[in-house]
Amino acid sequence: SSFAHFGFDEKLLSSIRKSEYTQPTPIQAQGVPVAMSGRDIIGIAKTGSGKTAAFLWPMLIHIMDQKELQPGDGPIGLILAPTRELSQQIYQEAKKFGKVYNMKVVCAYGGGSMWEQTKACQEGAEIIVATPGRLIDLVKKKATNLKRVTYLIFDEADRMFDLGFEPQVRSIADHVRPDRQTLLFSATFRKRVEKLARDILADPVRVVQ
Ligand code: AMP
Repeated sequence: SSFAHFGFDEKLLSSIRKSEYTQPTPIQAQGVPVAMSGRDIIGIAKTGSGKTAAFLWPMLIHIMDQKELQPGDGPIGLILAPTRELSQQIYQEAKKFGKVYNMKVVCAYGGGSMWEQTKACQEGAEIIVATPGRLIDLVKKKATNLKRVTYLIFDEADRMFDLGFEPQVRSIADHVRPDRQTLLFSATFRKRVEKLARDILADPVRVVQ
């Protein structure tokens, strides 16, 4: 398999090549075409599998197909991660590839400056990477809103449960328009993850690392 089969434009392909990725990882080879087709995904994959790029690249293409952000608009792509460390890793990768299309990315995590994150959200960003509790705080303070979110990712869902974020995860899913595309990644596929997937995904395709 090669990146050329994904249907990406030359700008994104050259940025991937510059990252010195020589071929797609298994989760990318399986997951990217499914995500590009618009289907929901339940991905069983660990850190190190290349899962971040597997959901980010199709997210960028999705965003490029949408109308440009207007002042006051919230993000089009929303990525929820359980910890500050993971959200920052995803943020770095989103910035790296988002740069190709001049997309703005904001990272918002609990413990970080509410004032700085509010300011960054208000300046407008196509993509927000956030921990669940902090995102809800920012929405409550009207720093951002979920009205334009049509591509929604939950990363490391099993760790979200371990850290007690289930109510926040469900609340966020409830507040994003139902005609969205949703991808849920988890290292393990326990009963609770399965139940969550049934509740917030629509006819998902299962992709295993
Ligand atoms: P992740 O599983 O998303 O945390 O990615 C693990 C690491 O693999 C990150 O440092 C990525 O930059 C890198 N990576 C992602 N996709 C590829 C690829 N196709 N080839 C080589 N490295 C990759």
